[in-house]
Amino acid sequence: SKPILEVDNLQVSFKMSAGEVQAVRGVSFTLNKGEVLAIVGESGCGKSVTAQTIMRLVPTPPSYIKNGSVMFDGKHDITKLSESDMEKLRGQEMGMIFQDPMTSLNPTMTIGEQIMEGVRKHQGSSKEKARERAIELLNLVGMSNPVERLSQYPHELSGGMRQRVMIAISLACNPKLLIADEPTTALDVTIQAQIMDLLKDIQEKTGTSIILITHDLGVVAEMAQRVIVMYAGKVIEQGTLNEIFYDPRHPYTWGLLRSVPRLDSDSNSDLASIPGTPPDLFAPPKGCAFAARCPYAMKVCLEKDPEHFTASDTHSAACWLQHPDAPKVERPIEVGV
Ligand code: SF4
Ligand code: MG
Repeated sequence: SKPILEVDNLQVSFKMSAGEVQAVRGVSFTLNKGEVLAIVGESGCGKSVTAQTIMRLVPTPPSYIKNGSVMFDGKHDITKLSESDMEKLRGQEMGMIFQDPMTSLNPTMTIGEQIMEGVRKHQGSSKEKARERAIELLNLVGMSNPVERLSQYPHELSGGMRQRVMIAISLACNPKLLIADEPTTALDVTIQAQIMDLLKDIQEKTGTSIILITHDLGVVAEMAQRVIVMYAGKVIEQGTLNEIFYDPRHPYTWGLLRSVPRLDSDSNSDLASIPGTPPDLFAPPKGCAFAARCPYAMKVCLEKDPEHFTASDTHSAACWLQHPDAPKVERPIEVGV
């Protein structure tokens, strides 16, 4: 069957008074039906902008889609849909879960009103039907006493429960595609695990396709079948979960994997443990965007942006080290978490 999403050479820029920020610089990938794809990278790498562009949630202006296409379900090019068609698509076929449920829930409306509003807006059902559906959704996301929950306000719930409510709202329309942008980052560790278990469970029950945006490779390992690594607005490596975790090819991916906390140490998972900072996307460098931080940088790296070199049908990395004539370097990390 056709992929649910085909992103081809997507370029998104922000026009600012100081110039143009090239946030997404030619991203391509496909998402198959029923698949969980993780997009990982440091903040500012373009992963959130990519996800929000797929839902057309980036404000235009200042952003604009400079180039590329995003085919949804083989039918609609999202970059070309009218705002009203897009709104329909968002309401009927896509759901999004954000990092901070408190900013996306309305503090003045009860949980029930907010879920029912979602259900009715998208499915136009009667108040009675919407209420039944709201209870069903609260059950699905593992909330106890759903009937009582309907009349509670967001501030009466814990952070983890608010995120469950957000997930319930995102599922109101039975989405074919769910985008979860750092869904557990604002929660404490034990709750994070519960929310990830919930998402996994929902994915298995509903078969929805998921794009999971995260900087946390532990979360990726638990849920994703395929992984895209982004850096400075580009995909620099992609592969199956096993390929990325056990046979990573790009020095940036090595850095990411090195920053995963190991059970036997107390190193933290802060990606800042890769020394240096990403380049300025007002003026991206000419060659490899990672060169300034890369211990293996060669002359060619400063001159020419590396193409994607294929490691398998499913695995590629944009790094000159993958060129057949490049010097062989030893991967500096033990792989596999
Ligand atoms: Fe490092 Fe060069 Fe590979 Fe870029 S292309 S990651 S600078 S070795
Ligand atoms: Mg983000």
